[in-house]
Amino acid sequence: MRGMTPMTIVIVFAHPDDSEFFAAGTLAKWARAGHIVQAICSTDGALGTMRRDVTRKELAALRASELARAMETIGARPPILLGFPDGDLRRHGDALFERLVYWLRKLKADRVVTFDPWRQYEIHPDHIEAGRRASEAAVFSCFPLLFPLHLEEGLEPVQPKEVWYMTPSQHRPNRVVDIRETLATKIAALLCHESQVEMLAAWFVPGADPRNLSTAERAKLEGGASDFLRKMAGGVAQADVAKTAQLAEAFYALQVGPGHFDNYQEMFLDMAGAPPKPPEVS
Ligand SMILES: [Zn+2]
Repeated sequence: MRGMTPMTIVIVFAHPDDSEFFAAGTLAKWARAGHIVQAICSTDGALGTMRRDVTRKELAALRASELARAMETIGARPPILLGFPDGDLRRHGDALFERLVYWLRKLKADRVVTFDPWRQYEIHPDHIEAGRRASEAAVFSCFPLLFPLHLEEGLEPVQPKEVWYMTPSQHRPNRVVDIRETLATKIAALLCHESQVEMLAAWFVPGADPRNLSTAERAKLEGGASDFLRKMAGGVAQADVAKTAQLAEAFYALQVGPGHFDNYQEMFLDMAGAPPKPPEVS
């Protein structure tokens, strides 16, 4: 786009398919607009199966290749895989934080997209840890005395401007992205995660053996998964927050300052019971 300054947008999640459900339409839209979109996957995803005929190592390799194809589909850069053990990210929180500060500095991140670690009823500890540590990294990567080895390596402190949380539930979304033009890409990206789509077979092709799907059953499964994403995007758009979009993804974005979030004015207005501002629709 002429006149546009391309941003480096970094999405941090826990498992290889995490961003597909909630953000892939937006990421694809940003990539098409000329921004750099870079995913960082915190775990190896080696627990994500109901199968008993596959090892963790095999599953991790399979999911890494699925993620690489999904990112290529949405026009993102090849993903960065941190490889922490699936299901156990909480115990690796400090190491995760250091790696995220490192990568935000190395990539010169302008915007971070991640899970909302304070979201009510978020049960997955890996989602909470990834969201929490990515938020901390966004806020603290500007301090030069934090992890000075990075600077000795030639990296510079960075200050991403915003953190965008996927699927807000405590807050009305303040950013809504119209994904009419990228829904098909989002669906294609989700379908790259074959090992995960297989687990949806019980919903969409009840009674079928997910390891031995016929061509017709596979088509039905893919159709079901596509419909599910279409309905999700339609549901977000129908919410009164997004009257101008028909298919959308919703986020809660916070401005970032050195060592804090810069949303005091919004918080005070919220505490005073002021009606929230309508979201920015893009
Ligand atoms: Zn996940």
